[in-house]
Amino acid sequence: MKRKIVKKRAAEKPSKTLIGTTANKPAKAAKVAKIVGAGTDPKRVAAILAKLDQAYPEATCELKHENPFQLLISTILSAQCTDVRVNQVTQTLYKKYAGPEAFAYAHPSELEQEIRPTGFFRNKTKSIMGASKGILEKFNGQVPRTMEEILTLPGVARKTGNVVLGTAYGIPSGVVVDTHVIRLSRRLDLTKHEEPKKIELDLMRVIPKNRWIKFSHQLIWHGRRVCIARKPRCIDCNLESICYSKDKTIDS
Ligand code: SF4
Repeated sequence: MKRKIVKKRAAEKPSKTLIGTTANKPAKAAKVAKIVGAGTDPKRVAAILAKLDQAYPEATCELKHENPFQLLISTILSAQCTDVRVNQVTQTLYKKYAGPEAFAYAHPSELEQEIRPTGFFRNKTKSIMGASKGILEKFNGQVPRTMEEILTLPGVARKTGNVVLGTAYGIPSGVVVDTHVIRLSRRLDLTKHEEPKKIELDLMRVIPKNRWIKFSHQLIWHGRRVCIARKPRCIDCNLESICYSKDKTIDS
């Protein structure tokens, strides 16, 4: 039988990751905590980051790619689809379509069938061909390096922009907010919002900028491996002592 969860706040030392952010700015930290929530105390955020580092030191994007353009296409394909399925499809897709030109002038019905296993294949075909044309016509064949520019490409929203800019170029443009990040950032009291844009703003306030890229990957890894949607594996979770989620499956 599930016992009552006892909430306790663990006293953790602040890590160096917060130096330069709210960790050494109590007034700012108080303001952020007031806006975002009490769970965003810098010491607690530092503890979360340290534990994520401990659990997932090598976390990175699981979409296979050899260049920024391939990552962009894979990210478009990953909407409502697993990375494993996308990687299966792109294994042959990238052999046939070598770059933006090949995708831009593809035969739409042919491309639709090739990406069909990823779902929403008609819309994805339009996005892929439109984005490829945009890259050729406006950006000289190169995936742009700013959020402002990348958002001009069809089918590209902030989530895709953050994945590509962060993983392919190492540019911390924001925090990737996918289904795992939405669920985990709420379970970990890093936001109270449900809308991806508002969640991202909250996370950009409480997570140090130099951690945005890695934090996104680590949270996604944790969401896939431990803090799963239907029944989180709290017994295997190293964040358990500082997690106060009502979804927890064990006492603390
Ligand atoms: S303790 Fe459970 S709910 Fe909290 S982060 Fe870990 S797996 Fe998720």
